[in-house]
Amino acid sequence: MNLIQRIDHRAAATPEAIAHVSGDSILTYGQLRQNSDAVASYLTQHLGEDGRPIAVLGHREPEMLIAFLGAVKSGRPYVPIDTALPQTRIDQIVESSHAALVLTPDQIRRFSANPSRVLTSVVGKNDPFYILFTSGSTGEPKGVVVTLACLEHFIGWMLTEQQFSKCGEVFLNQAPFSFDLSVMDLYCSLTTGSTLFSVTRDLIENPKNLYRSLATSGVTTWISTPSFAQMCLVEDKFADAMLPCVRRFLFCGETLAPQTATQLLARFPQAQVWNMYGPTEATVATTSIHIDAEILEKYSPLPVGRVMPDAKILIMDENGTQRSENERGEIIIVGPNVSPGYLGRPDLTARAFFECGGWRAYKTGDLGRIRDQLLFFEGRLDEQIKLSGYRIEPGDVEANLRALPFVRDAAVVPVIKNGAPQSLTAFVSLVARNESADFKLAHNLRNQLGERLPAYMLPRKFVFLDALPMTANGKVDRTALAKSL
Ligand code: AMP
Repeated sequence: MNLIQRIDHRAAATPEAIAHVSGDSILTYGQLRQNSDAVASYLTQHLGEDGRPIAVLGHREPEMLIAFLGAVKSGRPYVPIDTALPQTRIDQIVESSHAALVLTPDQIRRFSANPSRVLTSVVGKNDPFYILFTSGSTGEPKGVVVTLACLEHFIGWMLTEQQFSKCGEVFLNQAPFSFDLSVMDLYCSLTTGSTLFSVTRDLIENPKNLYRSLATSGVTTWISTPSFAQMCLVEDKFADAMLPCVRRFLFCGETLAPQTATQLLARFPQAQVWNMYGPTEATVATTSIHIDAEILEKYSPLPVGRVMPDAKILIMDENGTQRSENERGEIIIVGPNVSPGYLGRPDLTARAFFECGGWRAYKTGDLGRIRDQLLFFEGRLDEQIKLSGYRIEPGDVEANLRALPFVRDAAVVPVIKNGAPQSLTAFVSLVARNESADFKLAHNLRNQLGERLPAYMLPRKFVFLDALPMTANGKVDRTALAKSL
């Protein structure tokens, strides 16, 4: 049984079971199966042989799940896009994915209402299953292609390692569906017949309602970025009385601070804490480790774990030579979970991917080392950062700043506190300075940039310079800029 059949099988066995809760909306497994079949039929009838991706634009609505499965049941990958993105960015993603259609929840509801019996052909093992867009250093997002085989390998590992309960887990969904962390909660939940509990943007913006909603959620498996858990820990009541059923916290996507793990273990003595590591290009996560008292005592920073079965982590120097145990180098991921590459970008794909012993291999750009047979993450080779769990290429923000009228040049630098990026500062030189005060200029630039970039990519501070400082070899001197913060 492949992953899609497995979900349908769950739906046939327990059609009344709840697949998804998002705000006031509830979706049962029966509805998920029937409506995704209807969407698949609609796509097959209207698009025929056209196998281009289907963009799904929404914000955690149950209809998004229907459209994801509808697309793959019709043999097409889906491209999840969150409505939090500005229109320009949405347009860029739709254009570069060559999507045949952009489906919104309203349309999905309409298509679901007309079940028909057209035969459809689901995606094959090595076909693209979804395409996720991440920040690209040239100012345009790049689409990572993930096949059904990659996804099945990842989910198979998760199910074996975590041994989720057979009688009704509730998975927390914190990451928008356009981020690959959500793939972990979505498909672990659907393949085990569990319930996915989404926290919507409104809840995240209103902590009182968030905690009230968490208290009634029945969450058993918490999947989020460490940043989100840190935010929740600010509230003293965020403890086992609020979430009495929670048995595990699974973290991925950014550094898990030992203090966060320690606090969680103290407040949720029944629960386990896991640290997982991996980029979108290798299907969500490739390594994992259970962080218990012993690990906490022994390591700071914490390790990101051991590699999943059938995959390999290599640590390489800049010449592609493998480094020995405890030597630092670039983390290379090799295995069945590695993506074929970036959609329509053979140039970027050739730079980051290669073949190794019959498997795809991906150069992560992450620095790390293996020690005690555990992988440790030690930063980046390039400028890429994680801010509140979001992957950001400062070059992306810079290119979008340079595209604004009056901006001659720009450099974007993270503000680091306690070893982690807290916000972005943009250093900008303008074509011509008018009389406006700096705060007014900053306000205008931020607004204009907000039309091109999502809110989490917007610099908090703008500093205006006549010219950006240069290094001896003519590059922007980021070290000098960072020091000036
Ligand atoms: P994304 O593609 O958004 O999942 O981001 C992948 C990047 O996030 C990785 O290449 C790392 O730089 C970072 N990352 C992922 N997991 C961890 C972790 N457990 N600890 C530290 N950094 C991480």
